[in-house]
Amino acid sequence: MSIIADDKVQEVRERAAILDVIADYVSLRKSGANYQGICPFHGEKTPSFNVNPARAIFHCFGCGVGGNVFSFIMKMEGLTFPEAVKFLAKRVGVEIEDRAPTVAEKRRMDEREALYRITELAVSFYRRILLEEPAGEAGRIYLERRGVDGKTSETYRLGFAPDKWDALTRHLEKQKAPLEAAEKLGLVRKRENGGYYDLFRNRLLFTIADPYGKPVGFGGRVLDDTLPKYINSPDSLIYHKSETLFGIDLAKPSMREQGTAIIVEGYFDHLALFQADVKNVVATCGTALTGGHLKLLQRYAGKVVTLFDSDSAGKKATFRAMELFLEGGLPASVLELPPGEDPDSFLRKEGERAFASCLSKARPIFDYFIRDLINSHDTGSVEGKRIVLSALVPRLKLIEDRMQRNLYVAEIARLLGIHEDDLRREVGLERLGKAAPRPAGVVKKSASNAEELLLALMGKYPEVARRVREYGVERLFHTGFLSVAMAILDQAISSGEADWSKILEQVESIEERNRLSALFINDGHLDEIDANKAFEQCCQALERAALQELDGRALRRELAKLDSDSERYWEILKILDTLRNKKSQL
Ligand SMILES: [Zn+2]
Repeated sequence: MSIIADDKVQEVRERAAILDVIADYVSLRKSGANYQGICPFHGEKTPSFNVNPARAIFHCFGCGVGGNVFSFIMKMEGLTFPEAVKFLAKRVGVEIEDRAPTVAEKRRMDEREALYRITELAVSFYRRILLEEPAGEAGRIYLERRGVDGKTSETYRLGFAPDKWDALTRHLEKQKAPLEAAEKLGLVRKRENGGYYDLFRNRLLFTIADPYGKPVGFGGRVLDDTLPKYINSPDSLIYHKSETLFGIDLAKPSMREQGTAIIVEGYFDHLALFQADVKNVVATCGTALTGGHLKLLQRYAGKVVTLFDSDSAGKKATFRAMELFLEGGLPASVLELPPGEDPDSFLRKEGERAFASCLSKARPIFDYFIRDLINSHDTGSVEGKRIVLSALVPRLKLIEDRMQRNLYVAEIARLLGIHEDDLRREVGLERLGKAAPRPAGVVKKSASNAEELLLALMGKYPEVARRVREYGVERLFHTGFLSVAMAILDQAISSGEADWSKILEQVESIEERNRLSALFINDGHLDEIDANKAFEQCCQALERAALQELDGRALRRELAKLDSDSERYWEILKILDTLRNKKSQL
């Protein structure tokens, strides 16, 4: 539910020029009526991302995403609709007044604000210790030994927690910051006999930030071999491990540019890569990769590369992540370093070029999984084959892309020396070459194609819009497009021109909106068309589809049970008659 007034939304929509807004993220070149560029939502080399400034809409023919200026910002910045409206309002100078928050909302906002403020206080406190205080000496020596320069230390807002029980506690007290709030952040803990003590002691601290760079927590590493090696801030109102990726604020621009995100496990892995100018990197904060992480990544990158440890724990993490990627349909590869190396040690020994070469050899994650399974089982034996297959089949089923799944089936069959057809049956694929069964929705499909063409015609030719109105829009449109058709009629007839951006905004289903933006972004193919003839053809196709939906058999069954005196009897006879006539005409 939007709490922004509709006229404000309209004002922002009108003032925010889609070309200017998108040009901040994508470099665009004019091509006919449209502008084209490399899609920021999926990795590609040739531009399939289109912006139509006259209609104020965009569409990517590569990944199918489309919409208006709000949908673009929502996807790009990961915002909700009201957030996107506010984001753009600020940019174009429209003032938006929110309704006053309720008491409960206000309390929650105040609480969040307090937590952010305390986190900021802690960041600058720990940072000052690391930079200036005698208590930070150990941290400074450690960083120097690891080759971390001042600039990097600044970028990461590194800090040092002194070897004391109450350094932060005292500092917060002095700043009059409520310690109960600091406790909610996990920064301090309550003593049994009253008072508080610090969570982080004698540790180097990495500041964990949200995608916009706002600090939300810390990761603390010991300087020696003491265990645990890392302690992280616990979840709080402002920090959720399962939805936060370390370094995402730093990696955003580069992930967008390259369309790829590299995922590492540790803070120092992240830092080592970043220092070596590999900037599209994020790290999980001491937790396995989750669906929340995936969603976050998909805002910025269309592909991922995992770079986990090559030990068995790292492998396990890779395979667990693989299931998420397969389910989420996110293409993923695995970057392998030589055994025993982590990004930090590898870069130090072998340098950036060797790393780039490893990166270029990253293997598709499923491929990596197959080979690992086969290498670790005796696939010469029936039992070995069975174990390998039982691990592979359920995962093969997760692969959405048909072609890809088919290729994997062929490859696995070859590697295991089994019949491809047998494996195909296991996975629930019919044999290649055999005609696919006719999909049940074929009638609906052709109807919706005709509806789509008709919508495009209505948008381009006012006379078609008029004819649709005369004919009766509800007689022609039966799918979810009815509301879109009505919106086009409304606008095309009242103002003479359709507001495509507004029409798309009213479409709730994202898939439908994507399909419509494809339809409207470029209607050059309709230039030479005889609009009236095309209208008639659409009408015919739609009527035919409607008739096919009408079940004559059910009517005949009903007829057989009726008395020939009843009114319904004669009504049905009439319908059947019309059905027969129309079918023979079409
Ligand atoms: Zn795309």
